[in-house]
Amino acid sequence: MKYNFHTHSGYDDGKELLEDYVRTAINKNFVAIGLSGHQPLPFNNEWSLPKGVYPEYLAEARRLREQYRELIDVYIGLEMDYIPGFSDDFSGFREGAGLEYIIGSVHLVMKPGSDSEEDIWFIDGPREGYIEGIQKIFDGDVRAAVEAYYGQQREMILTQKPDIIGHLDKVNMHNRGEIFDTSSDWYQEAVDSLLDAIAKQDTIVELNTRGVYTGKTGEYFPGKEILKKCFEKGIRVMVNTDAHHPSQLDKHFDKACGLLRETGFNRMHTPFFEAAL
Ligand SMILES: [Zn+2]
Ligand SMILES: [Zn+2]
Repeated sequence: MKYNFHTHSGYDDGKELLEDYVRTAINKNFVAIGLSGHQPLPFNNEWSLPKGVYPEYLAEARRLREQYRELIDVYIGLEMDYIPGFSDDFSGFREGAGLEYIIGSVHLVMKPGSDSEEDIWFIDGPREGYIEGIQKIFDGDVRAAVEAYYGQQREMILTQKPDIIGHLDKVNMHNRGEIFDTSSDWYQEAVDSLLDAIAKQDTIVELNTRGVYTGKTGEYFPGKEILKKCFEKGIRVMVNTDAHHPSQLDKHFDKACGLLRETGFNRMHTPFFEAAL
């Protein structure tokens, strides 16, 4: 049973039309597809839906949901950044636009205690910028930077209540075992504290395959060790490919399902249905 609830089109930082995603999903016999553009943000950037384009995104998504109703279930959502003091509450978007689900993701880490745009660390751009951010914003304190990332995700889970948490350990993407040690006690504690919040809120963790099929990482987000902890804590999981092109809609879907089975899971859960693995 194939599905994908994490997709980006030409409206935000992906390629091609929303309709191309829906049609490709139908051709690949998906049971469902979720549309999850990046929410409009209150500052200039190259990846999110521009404010003026957002109504068009919603209108087109609704049109597609109706047009293809007999062939596939189309769900309308957003991938939302939570930036303390900067981003608007998820609930306003959810209710205002009648969104059916929200993926909560942290790409931008606010230095704790600050509310300045200068103190936002971007973890998802080029590696040089990632390293420079640790130096400039966190005075080179890697642990403080990484703990801020996990703490911000925890706060997002507890205050914004997204349905799914996106690429949970993406902060590790540029690490390559060189910048911090993921086996250290402080790292494990940061992860555990986040997972406890996820278990409490019953948030779904996605196994995000994008880092692997783009060649940026050797492991999916999150990696095997965190996945094992999810299993032990009874956290619900699903597979998403974070597609930025229709051809990426099922990249590594089957392999990721295999990894979930190996880890011990026998079911996967979307916000709308569950299935055997
Ligand atoms: Zn993301
Ligand atoms: Zn994404």
